[in-house]
Amino acid sequence: MPPLQEIRKKRVCTSCIDELVLKSQVRRGGLREKCSYCGRLRKTFSVSELAEEIDIAFQEHYVRVDDDDDGFGLYAQYALSNDDGLPVVDAIGEAAGITIPIASDIHRVMESGYQSRSAYEIGERTPYDAESHYQRMHPSDRGMREDWDAFGESLPIQLFLNLLGFSESEAG
Ligand SMILES: [Zn+2]
Repeated sequence: MPPLQEIRKKRVCTSCIDELVLKSQVRRGGLREKCSYCGRLRKTFSVSELAEEIDIAFQEHYVRVDDDDDGFGLYAQYALSNDDGLPVVDAIGEAAGITIPIASDIHRVMESGYQSRSAYEIGERTPYDAESHYQRMHPSDRGMREDWDAFGESLPIQLFLNLLGFSESEAG
């Protein structure tokens, strides 16, 4: 297996990324170089850059769902969802629309970023360790909150009181 420093520098081109937002990001901000995976000359991001992007996306849109050792830790609440999610490399592959070899390289970089800052030596879990499973948050979670915010802003107060059973005379 090549050392991490070499993996970080590998290039991934737009043709190797199916996820549309990420693809257009690479198209706009990437460097035109030879892709390390398909060999085409296209706009590319390095594996390191993609690891950063995907780390952010995971923090915003994914939850870790594998069970904790004692069942009462940080991830226990998600384990109750009865959904095992996907092993982290598969989840990265699905999120970015990339093949498993690319996802696996990106995963190594993501994992190493947290290992160096953690008590990995004493066996503490890190966000992207090999046993981690991830699941996409339900889009409805966010949609529901936005719906309620819009509901609160747009509804005239008298209509709201009427809905609660107060007539205008009683309220006044
Ligand atoms: Zn490519």
